[in-house]
Amino acid sequence: MQTRRQQYQALFPNEPSFRWDQIQKAVFDHRLGGWIAVSTLPSASRAKLEQNLPWMSVAAHTVLKSAHGDTVKAILELSDKKLIESVLMQNRRGQWTICVSSQVGCAMRCAFCATGTMGFIRNLTCDEIVDQYRFWNIYLQQHSFEWASHETMEVDDENEDGSPQGLPTGRKRISNIVFMGMGEPLANYDSVKEAVRTILEFTDIGPTHITVSTVGLLPQLDRLLEDRQWPHVRLAVSLHSADATTRKAIVPTSYDDFLVKLSDWSRRYLKKFDNRRHHLTFEYVLLSGVNDDEKHANKLAKFVNGIGQVKVNLIPYNTTGAQFNRSTQSAAERFVAALHAKHIIATIRKTMGDDIAAACGQLVTNQGDKEMKR
Ligand code: SAH
Repeated sequence: MQTRRQQYQALFPNEPSFRWDQIQKAVFDHRLGGWIAVSTLPSASRAKLEQNLPWMSVAAHTVLKSAHGDTVKAILELSDKKLIESVLMQNRRGQWTICVSSQVGCAMRCAFCATGTMGFIRNLTCDEIVDQYRFWNIYLQQHSFEWASHETMEVDDENEDGSPQGLPTGRKRISNIVFMGMGEPLANYDSVKEAVRTILEFTDIGPTHITVSTVGLLPQLDRLLEDRQWPHVRLAVSLHSADATTRKAIVPTSYDDFLVKLSDWSRRYLKKFDNRRHHLTFEYVLLSGVNDDEKHANKLAKFVNGIGQVKVNLIPYNTTGAQFNRSTQSAAERFVAALHAKHIIATIRKTMGDDIAAACGQLVTNQGDKEMKR
């Protein structure tokens, strides 16, 4: 599948390179609705682009809003009619995060995740990832939200030290992007890398506000440590258990000696990026009776403490039709207390949008015109 850039170059083989930059700037301008409005380009070029190059690579198929109003899920149609899901969420401080997909389906088949039941269909292009941002940016400007609406016209995000980053913009802005939608981002390394680089270059989102979440593909994790072009945004590794047998049972793609290798990689990562801006997170979905007792908490604590400054983000299990149950509130609290007792920074992720199947692990589409039943 050709990218926007390749399509553009085929249409305009002899244009100076600054033209591509103008095009990139224009596509990120939420006020422009198509090529004709791009006043920085000659009118003949605009007309040619309008005829030949789609302005957006994703189109709204269905948009669902959670009852609470703080989460919106879009089923987006791609140029080949395949469907992906993408999610917009607002936190209590009125900041907007988008959760983007990197693949149609996923090959990883983690036992608790709905996306895995689709299998792998195809990688998204860089444009299809970037255009999820563009889609939500336009959506945000065009819709009003009752929930925390007094906070939405807010000042820019905070810096690491908590000071405000810039002045009030008067525009609702997306402040964070998480690659936690459909797919395994590092299995689509090149497009994810290009998409992140593009977003960093053409939006006001900084590297500490983007998180790539991975099941832990070790060759790609090694690659990004050596890759000078890799944009060093935050990384989250889906650990889910520090017990090898348990992890293999719920994450079937676990490598032999995964834990030993991940521990080694994490130490190398932290050595290379020894500051809190690039901190590493381990994600851990709490499954009742599977990985949520004290024994598992202690194993996790030992594993994390053997590495160093790693945060743990516990995720309450969201129903996907798999044979798992969410840990009880008291089990989750005991688990987090056991980690805190060992001086580990651990938080429990707030569940958002589960009433519209927009929560972690619930994203799934069939490739006909109806959403798949869960
Ligand atoms: N492929 C990436 C992104 C997955 S989605 C990865 O594996 O990290 C982001 C997080 O949600 C991952 O940690 C994933 O394991 C988790 N997740 C998947 N299904 C879930 C479910 N049913 N309930 C809660 N979290 C889930």
